[in-house]
Amino acid sequence: MTDRPLTLMAVHAHPDDEATGTGGVLARYAAEGIRTVLVTCTDGRCGDGPGGVKPGEPGHDPAAVAAMRRQELEASCEVLKVSHLELLEYADSGMMGWESNDAPGSFWRTPVADGAARLAELMRRYQPDVVVTYDENGFYGHPDHIQAHRITMAALELTDATPKVYWTTAPHSAMRRFGEVMREFGADWEEPESAEEGSPEAGSADAGSAAVDAIPPIGLPDEEVTTWVDTTEFGGLKFDALAAHASQGENIFFLKMGKERFTELMGVETFVRVQDPTGAALPENDLFAGLR
Ligand SMILES: [Zn+2]
Repeated sequence: MTDRPLTLMAVHAHPDDEATGTGGVLARYAAEGIRTVLVTCTDGRCGDGPGGVKPGEPGHDPAAVAAMRRQELEASCEVLKVSHLELLEYADSGMMGWESNDAPGSFWRTPVADGAARLAELMRRYQPDVVVTYDENGFYGHPDHIQAHRITMAALELTDATPKVYWTTAPHSAMRRFGEVMREFGADWEEPESAEEGSPEAGSADAGSAAVDAIPPIGLPDEEVTTWVDTTEFGGLKFDALAAHASQGENIFFLKMGKERFTELMGVETFVRVQDPTGAALPENDLFAGLR
């Protein structure tokens, strides 16, 4: 062991992704004395403005939205006791197909090598033992999430270090529970995995494969999830971190659930391990298994 503290680095696309995706592990490992580094790649300017005003609508000022979301991000990091927040400050690219995809400075238009070089510098500085980011589909297809994945994997190639590397994922069993709660709370929700797994009403194989083409696959069959980290003890903090991002419409759904239901649903964070120097047995329940 070196004298350097064990370190977790999470690479996320937007302010608020740290809370939804990894709020539990950030809070839990901070409480265990592990140094946590959050890299947020974009400024979130394509998010909702005050009063829920959407990008492109009158009153949506991208610079003001970015400034507001920066404050929300800092508040969230305080809740989660993130040791170091690093901002790459690329412009939020918006959802796939939006004009903002091609705006000057957009993360999506940034060459992967440029983002990777900056991230590799942070990796050299912090020497993370564990790196967490999204899968190649950015979990759900958002261009900035895909780009965060790409620069992370490219940055790892640029450094000599071999940390454990994880992609966030959701087991299909959790996706089904999530769908049920979404409907209960009145949100529009189509189960993205239903076609793949064969939903009760999917009588025709043709309809099923068309749906698979239309919706990128989200999550994994339970048996392909390698790492299940119980963070229920930190569910309240994860909820509070998300509450710091209450300006964003999609978070309000979670907040409506209340702490208890939220923790029930979101209390176990799941990952797929894609690089491992430790040989720790799978499935595992700790991102740092084999490191301490
Ligand atoms: Zn995001």
